[in-house]
Amino acid sequence: MADFDIPELKEYPVIPTIHEGVMAHSKPFVAKDEFQKQLGFPGELIDNWQQVAIDKMGELTGKYRSLAVFLDACVKCGACTDKCHYYLGTSDPKNMPVARQDLYRKVYRRYYTFAGKYFPKLVGATDLTKEVLDDWYSYFHQCSQCRRCSVFCPYGIDTAEISMAAREVMDCVGVGQKYCNEIIGKVYKIGNNLGLPEAALADTLEGLEEDIEDDTGVKVRLPLDEKGAEVLVVTPSADFFAEPHVDGLMGYAKVFHEAGISWTLSSYASEAANFGMFIGSYENMRKVSLRIREAALDLGVKRIIFGECGHAWRVAYSFLNTLAGPFDFLDPKYPVPQHIMEFTYDLIQRKAITLDKSANDDMVLTYHDSCNVARASRMGPMPGGQFILPREVIKASCNHFYDMPQDTIHDATYCCGGGGGLLTDDLMEIRVKGALPRMEALKYVVETYGVTHMAAICAICKSQFTKVLPYYGFKMDSIVSVHQLVSNAIVLGKKQ
Ligand code: SF4
Ligand code: SF4
Repeated sequence: MADFDIPELKEYPVIPTIHEGVMAHSKPFVAKDEFQKQLGFPGELIDNWQQVAIDKMGELTGKYRSLAVFLDACVKCGACTDKCHYYLGTSDPKNMPVARQDLYRKVYRRYYTFAGKYFPKLVGATDLTKEVLDDWYSYFHQCSQCRRCSVFCPYGIDTAEISMAAREVMDCVGVGQKYCNEIIGKVYKIGNNLGLPEAALADTLEGLEEDIEDDTGVKVRLPLDEKGAEVLVVTPSADFFAEPHVDGLMGYAKVFHEAGISWTLSSYASEAANFGMFIGSYENMRKVSLRIREAALDLGVKRIIFGECGHAWRVAYSFLNTLAGPFDFLDPKYPVPQHIMEFTYDLIQRKAITLDKSANDDMVLTYHDSCNVARASRMGPMPGGQFILPREVIKASCNHFYDMPQDTIHDATYCCGGGGGLLTDDLMEIRVKGALPRMEALKYVVETYGVTHMAAICAICKSQFTKVLPYYGFKMDSIVSVHQLVSNAIVLGKKQ
């Protein structure tokens, strides 16, 4: 099945003995010239790359104060060393967060600190050589920017920010990653990561309407580009065709139908995902975000709601207003933006929709907190709402729910292994190995409570688990969308 060793699922997580360099070979394909250029980066490694990279590092620490603090503050206490799923799954010491940071920090010290300039050996400073750049390309693409390490660091040092900075520097010298950069290019050209044109999107939505009618006898609409709708829904394009994502999209449609609130999708902003964040590029993140603003203005909506996508929600919740605001043309009664989970949770609280939990009695569920939702955003009016709301929606939709062990959920959640721009087949080894801690926690609830399915609200998590679950002996369809559960349970035609 695989041309690499699949880690063994142990009863209790075991911190591995280190094996130097075992993942040095893991590198994503490099973006071709045309895909680099459409994002404003050089097409290949430029001649004076060292100087350009060093200048860019200075620009980034000048621009982002947090980055400079993270590079200066580490005291090498070691608290983060065993917190990264990629270290736990691979045993490569460069996948320890502090060691990953040091790949960048050593170069930063060499060119931007007094001690590093004059006594480099004393402070572990290193010249930026081609060998160092190769190490960056390898190990900064073995970080899913999940921020788990930062939760355990006494100084809150966020390796994700360092990894984003490293990727931006690499893009600026012409060494970008194929997967992310091609995808951003598709959003600019067509509107979504999948390159799904408007006509195909309209066909797909029509097909889904027919499926719902065949299944329920009720005509539920999935409108596209409808001017004057109250709500614009921006969702990951995987929701339009991939399993189990599409079942979640049908769930959103049923909730809107039952709530009697008009809504629309947009063919221009047919993508919630924003891979600009993964490559650390503010400019690209902004360009992708502006499409949402333009679509909202063009369609004349009053609210924007995001579908189930982890990093999209991080960008939306934390940065959308800065990137594409102000949103003063929307209805100020509602949060900008809002998450579909907030919308459905509110309707459940107000008893505005009816859910028949027994419709999901064939499943015993657990819930995977997606990193970007758990550690980089919030949801709803209460602290910790990002943990509470999805669980409340699940519990309102099914009779059997059990959480995974406490040290693997909420803000200590483990990444699925495929986040941060790693969801590509050329990185399958690191994706499978990085999923180990989550798979161990899943095994625990499967064996203890008879859990049969794991729900998630992130498109990347869903795609990643569909692929990696079978490597660990689980069924690929044991990952479900939270709104898939809502879709199964919602009683249509109850409310007028
Ligand atoms: S951000 Fe996540 S993937 Fe990156 S080093 Fe920290 S724990 Fe590992
Ligand atoms: S926990 Fe923080 S301070 Fe300690 S080694 Fe890791 S990054 Fe450095």
